[in-house]
Amino acid sequence: MQYLSTRGHPERRRFCEILLEGLAPDGGLYLPEHYPKIDAAQLAKWRGLSYAELAFEVLSLYIDDIPAADLKAICAKTYTEEVFGTPDIVPLRELEDGVYIEALSNGPTLAFKDMAMQLLGNLFEYELGRRGEQLNILGATSGDTGSAAEYAMRGKKGVRVFMTSPDGRMSPFQQAQMFSLQDENIHNIAVAGVFDDCQDIVKAVSNDLAFKRKYKIGTVNSINWARLLAQVVYYFAGYFQATATNDKPVSFTVPSGNFGNVCAGHVARMMGLPIRTLVVATNENDVLDEFFRTGVYRVRSAADTHETSSPSMDISKASNFERFIFDLVGRDAAKSRGLFEGELGRTGQFDLSSDPVFAKAASEFGFASSRSTHADRLATIRDTDKRFATLIDTHTADGLKAAREHLVPGVPMIVLETALPIKFAETIVEALGHEPDRPARFQGIEELPKRVVKLPADVEAVKAYIAKHCD
Ligand SMILES: *Cc1c(COP(=O)(O)O)cnc(C)c1O
Repeated sequence: MQYLSTRGHPERRRFCEILLEGLAPDGGLYLPEHYPKIDAAQLAKWRGLSYAELAFEVLSLYIDDIPAADLKAICAKTYTEEVFGTPDIVPLRELEDGVYIEALSNGPTLAFKDMAMQLLGNLFEYELGRRGEQLNILGATSGDTGSAAEYAMRGKKGVRVFMTSPDGRMSPFQQAQMFSLQDENIHNIAVAGVFDDCQDIVKAVSNDLAFKRKYKIGTVNSINWARLLAQVVYYFAGYFQATATNDKPVSFTVPSGNFGNVCAGHVARMMGLPIRTLVVATNENDVLDEFFRTGVYRVRSAADTHETSSPSMDISKASNFERFIFDLVGRDAAKSRGLFEGELGRTGQFDLSSDPVFAKAASEFGFASSRSTHADRLATIRDTDKRFATLIDTHTADGLKAAREHLVPGVPMIVLETALPIKFAETIVEALGHEPDRPARFQGIEELPKRVVKLPADVEAVKAYIAKHCD
């Protein structure tokens, strides 16, 4: 399988070449040259597989530069009951007639990002070992991504993590999750500033090409194709659990921010998985909902980005969206480049409302969308607790509310559970008046010794810290 850029760069790359990279050289995102098609016979063969075996089958269609036996071993090592808490890895439960919740958040950091990041950790270790190279991952986090990356990379050979976060602004639980890691190769940097300051520092360091090369700086952000690919697997796993045969369609609702999760659903659908509708659920930061309703993609300014009670969906632009638009415009790279580099670059938005391709987003690609507010989240959490004795987190609540607006009789609707309630305890207390249950392994986590350095919001200070800790 070869990979191309959504902006038309002529070069083609293979999986392991793009594994450790971010954007394509022309600023586009990587996508496979085509989507391998899965027919009913193939689906029937996959139905009985364990999650690790299924992951191997899906991944091996896109990865031909890792020997099959090695890839199989990597999948087997990643998707274990020990790491994900259950033998099913992504167990499905029926909430009410025809509405299911697929649990993606039983990994080490209790959010769905573990599903991909755990695989990435093992792929990085494998590939760096093969090349005899090292990588220093520099990131900025306001919560879920940073902890998922750290738990995936801790103790891995050849990898160090330097994770910046805004000092004092993550929830106490999230801080404890990250700062209690004592691994030598994990560096927590609490920056005196806000999340945007952290992101600016990461950008400035990455733009210093000499420094970047000298210290082998890399990232694990959500545009990484390997992360997206790992997420394709649980759409298949959810489908198999919700259906008894391979001729019935299902729909998925996906709490969305950077469009990585639902883009994986799009890929699964393009491969032939019978998905009727992909519902994009947003919170008050409704860039994506606005696009699917109107055809206008309007990036928000920082001032126009709300801080909400589903913070992992608080985005101003959706970094994976270009992948879908590239497919929507019939893989016309010049058109895709014109939209993202041209129109969006010039005006902060593009408008497909009068372009005939816009209608295809729903009719051919199966997309729909909805938006929720803080009041919706509280109401959904309360209602789900009261009627089904089930506690859901704020992001999953955004999903459940959206799902109910797109139900079709006879078509199972699967809501992706993207985090556990304990991560967002404050809002649970606001909704229900009591704290959510805490998994045993996180009891007393706030009391553990913390490993974190505080630095000013200053690029040179962060560079100096990195230089000192890379030998
Ligand atoms: C990251 C995240 C999301 C958004 O996922 P995208 O892939 O960015 O669309 C939703 N919910 C939770 C809990 C997350 O951590």
